[in-house]
Amino acid sequence: MTHDVVLIPGDGIGPEITSAMRRVVEATGVQINWNVQDAGAGVMGEYGTPLPEHVLEAVRATKVAIKGPITTPVGTGFRSVNVALRKEFDLYACVRPCLSQPGDGSRYRDIDLVIVRENTEDLYAGIEFDEGSPEVVELSKLVEASGQKPFAADSAISIKPISIARSRRIVEYAFEYARRCGRKKVTCVHKANIMKATDGLYLRIAREVAERYPDIEFNDKIVDATCMGLVQEPHDFDVLVCLNLYGDIVSDLCAGLVGGLGMAPGANIGADVAIFEPTHGSAPDIAGKDIANPTAEILSAAMLLDHLGETDAAERIRAAVRATLAEGSQVTGDVQRALTGSAEGAVGTQAYADAV
Ligand code: NAD
Repeated sequence: MTHDVVLIPGDGIGPEITSAMRRVVEATGVQINWNVQDAGAGVMGEYGTPLPEHVLEAVRATKVAIKGPITTPVGTGFRSVNVALRKEFDLYACVRPCLSQPGDGSRYRDIDLVIVRENTEDLYAGIEFDEGSPEVVELSKLVEASGQKPFAADSAISIKPISIARSRRIVEYAFEYARRCGRKKVTCVHKANIMKATDGLYLRIAREVAERYPDIEFNDKIVDATCMGLVQEPHDFDVLVCLNLYGDIVSDLCAGLVGGLGMAPGANIGADVAIFEPTHGSAPDIAGKDIANPTAEILSAAMLLDHLGETDAAERIRAAVRATLAEGSQVTGDVQRALTGSAEGAVGTQAYADAV
């Protein structure tokens, strides 16, 4: 059977790591009809948007895509294409497994945890108002009328929507995932001591959902304490269900436990569509040099193959990555540096993919 999959190479290191990923997937023999689509700053000139309608159409048709990272301008400019894709297809669950590999160069061993990040609301909703805008003035009046101290008139404002339905949906996803994958514990990550309305609602819903899963252990932890716990005793964690922004930050922290961003794959899952991508960004500092680590992209492809029902090929890819890292003579500079303190003797992105 041939699978139709949209491939968005992205920018920065995206084209290099997706081409490495594609060769690894093709080596499994699984038949994929790649529908390659460009998005990001590179298409702005031609289409007037970083996410043209024909790209969305292509994903709508295949219902499955894998992408490289796409750069988002900092502070000003267009909003994140990555976030726009998650919103457009309601890819509400971001699943990011962090698994130690032999020879990954990390200070930690035997890490095996999964972050389930809510992907559609929170401060990531992108509802913002500039300082001095009429909306800020109106909002300030509302705050004052509610008996709370109004914010300064020169404030910029971000809105943090957290809904009952979406909180329930993500926590249920985390528990269902835990059951399906034989995981023992779900930890709800929040800051409900300070954000009593938003995070408080989320925690309340999480506790309600947990009651329905007596076979899975449940606890909750404040996000700051979670970060310390992850660094000090990461083996205490199993599945972490996080609001969007905390999930973003905790994902990078957890990538650091398993050898760095080059190692951490991910999936954005919705009811109809799934888009696979690594945790990391476009890494402009190392783009175009054939030195990026494509492991995160390759392991994202293994998650894609699982999703397509090609579980044997997925497992073969994971085994090949494990074996290549364990053997250790053909690893990329980030891993080599972590292992020996210098990138000397490392191989390039494509040579590593050949070894895999
Ligand atoms: P980044 O994740 O791109 O890079 C952080 C650090 O990790 C850099 O030093 C980089 O060289 C290193 N790194 C990342 N991936 C690596 C890999 N595969 N191999 C080796 N080293 C790797 O974060 P950033 O620099 O803050 O962001 C760059 C751009 O990426 C920004 O525009 C950001 O918005 C965007 N971004 C996109 C996505 C996405 O496409 N889903 C995710 C995160 C960030």
